[in-house]
Amino acid sequence: MHPETKLLHAALTPATAGEPLHAGPVFATAFHTPGDPAQAPYTYARSHNPTWTHLESAISGLEHPEAQTRIFASGLAAVHAAFASTLRPGDTIVFPDNCYFTARQLLQEHFAPIGVYLRPVPTALLTDPATLSGARLLWLETPSNPNLEITDIRAAVAVAHAAGVLVAVDNTTATPYAQQPLALGADLSVSSDSKSLTGHSDLLLGHVSTRDSALAERIDRHRTLTGAIAGPMEAWLALRSLATLPLRLDRTCANAQAIAEFLQTRFEVTEVLYPGLPTHPGHSIAAAQMTHFGTVVCFTLPSEQAANQFLTNSALITQATSFGGQVTTAERRARWGHDRIAPGFIRLSAGAEHLADLVADLSRALDSIK
Ligand SMILES: *Cc1c(COP(=O)(O)O)cnc(C)c1O
Repeated sequence: MHPETKLLHAALTPATAGEPLHAGPVFATAFHTPGDPAQAPYTYARSHNPTWTHLESAISGLEHPEAQTRIFASGLAAVHAAFASTLRPGDTIVFPDNCYFTARQLLQEHFAPIGVYLRPVPTALLTDPATLSGARLLWLETPSNPNLEITDIRAAVAVAHAAGVLVAVDNTTATPYAQQPLALGADLSVSSDSKSLTGHSDLLLGHVSTRDSALAERIDRHRTLTGAIAGPMEAWLALRSLATLPLRLDRTCANAQAIAEFLQTRFEVTEVLYPGLPTHPGHSIAAAQMTHFGTVVCFTLPSEQAANQFLTNSALITQATSFGGQVTTAERRARWGHDRIAPGFIRLSAGAEHLADLVADLSRALDSIK
């Protein structure tokens, strides 16, 4: 079955006469539990909740036929679960030196002090056997945020597994609709579902998926013991949003591609980064492992001032951080100071507006740069 059909039907309840087509969120702390608790499917809501189960099976359906998924309170909670379930004092993690900055901060502030060795490397070295020597976990992020660098997941997995190294992929920018890391051989697929997966800029959520039952059990234990759980309302909103993921991504990724192509024609723009452009250094790998190139387009204007003029003079682009929502947003990314990028670097997230309106607006905003 195709993902579009699977997702729509995943949200449907069994056909019981008089019951609603779609289940509502289950708000409960405790569930009826007579006698032996092992006989009750649900007991206490820090461990499990029927709305989570519903969402987790819908996400698993996208990730891999054998995937087991656990949802978390945020993307960072999911990233933390992946780190904490695989790394012990004395272990080494290899990761891209420009991956999502809060993941790097989490490693530096929480894992390095307890004796985990951090080995940040440039993306190009992630598939180099020498880089992986003695490591426990290889962390990938492709396309990466915000540099949109591409890593060949299958090639990285081959090198890592030959060296006995586990592979986890932060799949946030792609979503499992566009790229399935587990099918490409990764041990863990990790995502912030606050972005494109839920896509309405109204909730924080994350998930970890794996085909390995022992790893799934550790991820589950981690969640129960740390309490990094999503609320049932967020899980339900996510389930509702997931049904339209294919519709939203088909449209917003097509807009992103057209915007990237348009920006390439403008003299004010000194560089355009989008994996869907044949000029992107990772284009052929991205084309081989992704069905859509994502909603994020990054481009560089000559200066901080030019970037600010562009953002201020656009009528349609909402200035905001994050990405993957239904309206087009953008920001001058260097204002946060966490990444090695030019002062005029803009990270734009294509929304679902009519393309002609977006291009006309971008054009006017670029014309306004002095
Ligand atoms: C946003 C993001 C995260 C963190 O997710 P939150 O839901 O904000 O906690 C992790 N990885 C990547 C690549 C992200 O873009």
